[in-house]
Amino acid sequence: MHPDQSSSSSAAHVPRVALVTGGMGFIGSNLIRHLLASDQRLVVINLDALTYAGNPANLSDLPGDQSCRHHAVHGDIGDEALVGRLFAEHAIDTVIHLAAESHVDRSIDGPMAFVQTNVMGTATLLHAARQAWAGRAAGAASVRFHHVSTDEVYGSLGETGLFTESTPYDPSSPYSASKAASDHLVRAWARTYGLPVTISNCSNNYGPYHFPEKLIPLMIANALEGKPLPVYGAGANVRDWLYVEDHARAIDRIVRAGVSGSTYNVGGHNEWKNLDIVHLLCDTLDELRPSGRSGGYRSLIAFVKDRPGHDLRYAIDAGKIERELGWKPVETFATGLRKTVQWYLDHQEWVAQIRSGRYRGERLGVAS
Ligand code: NAD
Repeated sequence: MHPDQSSSSSAAHVPRVALVTGGMGFIGSNLIRHLLASDQRLVVINLDALTYAGNPANLSDLPGDQSCRHHAVHGDIGDEALVGRLFAEHAIDTVIHLAAESHVDRSIDGPMAFVQTNVMGTATLLHAARQAWAGRAAGAASVRFHHVSTDEVYGSLGETGLFTESTPYDPSSPYSASKAASDHLVRAWARTYGLPVTISNCSNNYGPYHFPEKLIPLMIANALEGKPLPVYGAGANVRDWLYVEDHARAIDRIVRAGVSGSTYNVGGHNEWKNLDIVHLLCDTLDELRPSGRSGGYRSLIAFVKDRPGHDLRYAIDAGKIERELGWKPVETFATGLRKTVQWYLDHQEWVAQIRSGRYRGERLGVAS
């Protein structure tokens, strides 16, 4: 069966208790904000190992009512006993799985953590969900396992073309290979055991709470500190950028209305060369926070040796989710990028905590 053929259809799913993994990270924290604000009956259990990328400060300012419905659990998705206990103690009807090692450069330097979390951790979660939901999983709309994946599983495009849900997998980095493996595991649990699953493969996200080693926040933070803005190769690599809140809305939509067994590509129809993004960021900063530097922030751009196995271009055909589920991005790149730059200007203490490493000592309010 083709990966995108649905094994069964499903009626609308209404999540009541959602186990969100990786909810202290960039997309996870934005997703939890969206979920708690948009459904006042939803309870979220946020399982996060608080690796370098997980930061409780990302959710420390939830409003009172939402904070009561958010339960942070400090732990590893690969800890079978812990995951089993969470299913036993809470009436979890929905898993939204984001926890992952997510940074391509780190996967080149240390691939085994990626295999451990992205492959083994996903298998552990699937196994626990299947056991907990045995007897009510087959064909049921009452439970749902949603796996958040990436367009990087499809490999690299030439100058033209788009990734569709039927593009063959061809991952290039240990990161994308480990995500591809996790997607295959999710489909295997659906076909073999009837677990009601959906998968989304999304393009590059940007927005608030993005860890400042990724392109957009790194450039903003370095520019504000007057440091070089490192651009790989000639900056010709092309990515399709989506505002993180649009991704959160897409995930929510798929969890509630997606067809069990289906994959949905999510993207912004918004392709940019890395160098053009850096130019746009510099120009936006010149306007919002002028440096007085001759040549403006662009004068800080420094070209560095390219990353090995660097995919040239990713671009998503997001037609299926638009046609079938009525999802479209709300934010344009102009509005989204401006909001993002303004957010980083307004949250420099958040950035400073991370860049100094101080945030790693702050684990308050997180149960283990
Ligand atoms: P992130 O690195 O910001 O966050 C990952 C979170 O997972 C962190 O809070 C971390 O502490 C947690 N985590 C890591 N290992 C864990 C483990 N073993 N057990 C429990 N928690 C663990 O990542 P992100 O950018 O928010 O990405 C979230 C998901 O979305 C990932 O699965 C990623 O592959 C996918 N995705 C990301 C993008 C993007 O542009 N950032 C695009 C498409 C898909």
